[in-house]
Amino acid sequence: MGQAATAEQTLYPNPLYGTYARTPQTFVRGEGVWLFDDEGRRYLDFVAGIAVNALGHCHPHLVETMKAQAETLWHTSNLFQIDGGQKLAARLCAATFADKVFFTNSGAEALECAIKTARRYHFTEGAPERSTIITFEGAFHGRTLATIAAGGNPAYLEGFGPPAAGFENLAFGDHDALNAALARPDVAAVLIEPVQGEGGVRSVPDQCLIGLREACDRHGVLLIFDEVQTGVGRTGYLFAHQRIGVEPDIMAVAKGIGGGFPLGACLAREEVAAGMVPGTHGTTYGGNPMAMAIGNAVLDIVLDEGFLESVRERARDLTQSLSGLLDLHPELFEEIRGEGLLRGLKCKVPVKDVVTEARNQGLLLVAAGDNTVRLLPPLIVTSADIAYAMDALEATARVLDDRSAASA
Ligand SMILES: *Cc1c(COP(=O)(O)O)cnc(C)c1O
Repeated sequence: MGQAATAEQTLYPNPLYGTYARTPQTFVRGEGVWLFDDEGRRYLDFVAGIAVNALGHCHPHLVETMKAQAETLWHTSNLFQIDGGQKLAARLCAATFADKVFFTNSGAEALECAIKTARRYHFTEGAPERSTIITFEGAFHGRTLATIAAGGNPAYLEGFGPPAAGFENLAFGDHDALNAALARPDVAAVLIEPVQGEGGVRSVPDQCLIGLREACDRHGVLLIFDEVQTGVGRTGYLFAHQRIGVEPDIMAVAKGIGGGFPLGACLAREEVAAGMVPGTHGTTYGGNPMAMAIGNAVLDIVLDEGFLESVRERARDLTQSLSGLLDLHPELFEEIRGEGLLRGLKCKVPVKDVVTEARNQGLLLVAAGDNTVRLLPPLIVTSADIAYAMDALEATARVLDDRSAASA
C-alpha cells in the first residue's frame, strides 16, 4: 500500500507554490501523539501541527463532534444567528478578561481584527491620530500585509512592496525606547506575544509584562496580547498571561482553539470593542457552525477538571528531562527556553541538523528563530511519551557527536 501511494505520487507534477521546503514524509494517519507515514513508520509528534493539535490527532471527542455536526449543519454565514458561536464566545469571556469576541479562520486574521479594534477604539474616542502599533523584534504575528509589517522581520517583508504603515518594531527589552514611544500621541497599542514562538521561544519576563501594563495605562495606550501560539493550555494555563495576572485589552487566539480545524478569535473588553459596529468588519467563514462545534469541543476537554493541572505536571517532566539532556550535551545545547509545553532548546549546532536527525530517530520537532529547536507536544502527552522523546533526543545527540568526531 505504501509503495502504491509513492508510485502514484510520481505520476503528478508538483504545482504547489514553492513557499515551503518540505521534508519527504507523507503522513497518512494520526492517532493521539503519533503520526504514521505512507511507509508505515510511526513518529512521536512534538510539532502538533505547530501548536495546533492541542488534543493530538483524531481525539475521540473531536471526531464525534465533527461527525455529528457534519450531519447537521456546516455553514450558514454571519447574516444569521449562530448559537454555537455565542456559546463559545460566552465560554471564552467567562474564562478571561474579555467581554466580546470576533471569530476568524486563522491567527493572522485574529491579529488583523485586534489591530483594527485598537485603532477603531481611539477613532471612536475622538483620537484618530492614535494609529501606531508598537511591536518587538523577533515577533511573529502572521503573513498578511499588515501582520508582516507588525512582525517587522525583513526577510518576510522583502519584495512585497511598501510595508503597511503604522507599525513600529522596537528592540526586545529596550525599555527606554518603549517608554519614549508610549509617550507619543500617535500610539494606539502595544502588541506582544507573552512568549515569542517563531522568534525562538523567548519569554517576556513577568516584571516586563507587569511594567508594560502599567505604562500602557499611564499613557492611554491599549495592550494587545498575541496568544495564538501560547493560548488554549499550551503553557499550562488557559492563556499564558493568566499565570502572571496581567490582562490585555485585546487578545488574538488561534492554533490550539480549533484542535486542527481552522479557527481563530479576537477577544476584547466591552469598551474597547464598542467601535466595532455593523459594517466595520466581517468574514465569510469565521465562526461558522462547524468551526464553533469543534471550538466548543476543544474547550470541553481543556476546561475539564484537572486538565490544565496535568499539562503543568507534564511540563515539569519535560523541564526535568531537558535539564538532564542539557547537562549531558553541553556541546550541542546551550539553553532551555519557554514555559509549559511550549519549549525551546537553543542549539550550538545548526538547528536543521537536530530536527533532521530527531526525525530519523522517530521524533518530530520544529525549528524556530535564533537557532532554537521547538518542542510542542500535544497537551495530552504522557510521561512515557516524554521519556520516548528524550530517548530519541539522546540518540540524536549521539549521532551528531559521532559525526562531528568523524569530521574533526
Ligand atoms: C502562528 C502564529 C500567528 C499566525 O497564525 P496563522 O494561523 O498562521 O495566520 C500569529 N501569531 C503567532 C504568535 C503565531 O504563532
